[in-house]
This record gives sequence, C-alpha cells and structure tokens, in this order.
Amino acid sequence: MKNSQNKIFVIITLIFFMNFGYSQTDEIKIKFIGNCGMYLTDGNINLYVDFPYKSGAHKYMKYDENQLYNISENSIFLFTHKHKDHYSKKLVRKMKKKYNGKIYDNWNVNKLDDLNNTLNNFSIKAIKTPHSFTFKHYSYLITWHNKKIYFTGDTGSLEAINGVKNIDWLFTNPWLFMNAKSKKIKIDTKMIGLYHLYPNQKIEGEIPKNMMILKKENEIITIANNQ
Ligand SMILES: [Zn+2]
Repeated sequence: MKNSQNKIFVIITLIFFMNFGYSQTDEIKIKFIGNCGMYLTDGNINLYVDFPYKSGAHKYMKYDENQLYNISENSIFLFTHKHKDHYSKKLVRKMKKKYNGKIYDNWNVNKLDDLNNTLNNFSIKAIKTPHSFTFKHYSYLITWHNKKIYFTGDTGSLEAINGVKNIDWLFTNPWLFMNAKSKKIKIDTKMIGLYHLYPNQKIEGEIPKNMMILKKENEIITIANNQ
C-alpha cells in the first residue's frame, strides 16, 4: 500500500514538474495545417484558427487525419467563417464533445471578451471583414505578450488591416496580397505567411524577402517573447 502511494506521489510530482516546465517556455509556436488552418500554442493555451475544415474541400489542401487526434483538452477554436475549406460542422462538433473545445465562429464572436478575461498573456480580437457569399466573416488579431499575429482569413479587403500597426506575423491569402501589391499599399508587418494556396499554385512575380509560402503541412513558425 505504502509503496503504491509513493509511486503515485512520484508520478504526480513528475506531471507537475513536466507541466510547470512546459508552461515556462517563452515562445509561441505556430503550426500550419492547411488552407487557413493553423495551430498556436505557448505551452499553456492551445488555439486553432480555421481548423478543422473539410479536408480537400473546393480542391484546396488535404491534411493528415492524425491532426484530429492529439488535440489538447479545452482547446480554443476560432473560425473566420463557415465555408467548408475553413470549417467542418461534423468535425467541429466532435472537437467540442471529445476535447471540450471552446468554439468561436462568425456567429458568437461577441463572447470573446469573456474568454479573454480567462486567458494569460493572450488576447483575441475579432475584426469584421468582407468576404463574398457569407454574411459574416472575421479576421483575427491575436496578441501574445507584445507580439501581434494577424489572420486575415478569406477577405481581400485592406480596409481593416490598414488600421493595424506593428504586426509581427501576418497570415494572409494571395488575393489580399495581390490587392495590396497592385494598390502599392504597404501593410505594417514584419513577416508574412502566405496561406490558402491550391496544392499546385504558383505565386507570380517577386516574392518579398519577409514572406513565407505556406504549402507544407506541419510547417512551424516560432516567435520568441523578447519583451
Ligand atoms: Zn476559403
């Protein structure tokens, strides 16, 4: 009896230190899954944007279905809108049920304020942006410590993003990027991740030095907290 109690104590201590160690990481990891599907974690908070979507929908990227397992309990799921290449009703339901996922989509973004009050070092802001064939579409600005990470989703409009200064990483689609380029509008961002490409899509013209083309599933971007 005593032995097994000891064992349990050791295991609990180990789990405690493992979690503690992990929560002290001073960086955020951003993993590209496919389309606008991204996963962010700083070791404490697990956040998905536009995932899970319907793999291969509208001839866009497929993803390894293992992405749907290994999901941390209480993960947060943000959706820009509900087109199938961004959102799967069936899979989202599963995330909610199986992993106690917190779901925020274009119909309940008003609840993000309550969520923000519970988050450490994170804040999530939904910005209403236009996109055809949907009533509501939101871009998201995520602030982690002093780092700004912006996800445009499917909008091609520059209006909202023009008001955002000092972005660290901007994740945007080719049509918004081309729109900015043709209008010679400079977006105030250090880095750009170009997402939502067709599997064989090529980007024409010069690729800016600060741009990363996201076509490879599981590509990871790390941002250090150096504030
Ligand atoms: Zn789309």
